[in-house]
Amino acid sequence: TQFSDFGLAAPLLQALAQAGYVTPTPIQAQALRPAMEGRDLCGIAQTGTGKTASFALPILHRLASQTPAGRAPRRGCRVLVLSPTRELASQIAESFRDYGRYLPFTTTVVFGGVTIGRQERALANGVDVLVATPGRLLDLIDRRSLTLEGVEYLVLDEADQMLDLGFIHALKRIVTLLPKQRQSLFFSATMPKNIAGLADQYLKNPVQVAV
Ligand code: AMP
Repeated sequence: TQFSDFGLAAPLLQALAQAGYVTPTPIQAQALRPAMEGRDLCGIAQTGTGKTASFALPILHRLASQTPAGRAPRRGCRVLVLSPTRELASQIAESFRDYGRYLPFTTTVVFGGVTIGRQERALANGVDVLVATPGRLLDLIDRRSLTLEGVEYLVLDEADQMLDLGFIHALKRIVTLLPKQRQSLFFSATMPKNIAGLADQYLKNPVQVAV
């Protein structure tokens, strides 16, 4: 199977060709079709398996396929990706920009430990894709610099690490602020009972994928 077999939007195939990616990794081969169809996903996969593309490609494909082409909301974001660390968040944002280089969507990353003003200005006119660490995301919401009411896609990456780092309350609060009607993609390197319970709560009839 090759990327060209999945019916991905042409601008995505062009970006993949430019990156030299021809064959999907196992997690991508399992996740692409159901996620492109709009299904929720529960994936057990570690970093290095290609999991970023397994959620970034289907989400960009769906944004690109909407007619008329959707525009970023005036405030807030359409895609929210939650990540436990600033390093991972930055890498994910980089991947969205790379795969989306021939699409008109905007990607912004926000995380703690740096001044908030620049991030507030970056969000002022709305963005398509927002990658965030949970604490800073809530700070921005509490300062009324961001609303989550327009979110159509939620990605929870490295859920186990998110809980290890003490983000459970932040995570729960964030999810209460999201529209119920959305597509949710959930990834964790491990799936102990407490993580599986969270996935159960946040996902609707998910497809399970594991590598
Ligand atoms: P990730 O697990 O998402 O951090 O990806 C691990 C690395 O594999 C990243 O450097 C990606 O750019 C690269 N990668 C992802 N998918 C593919 C693919 N299908 N073929 C070759 N490299 C890939």
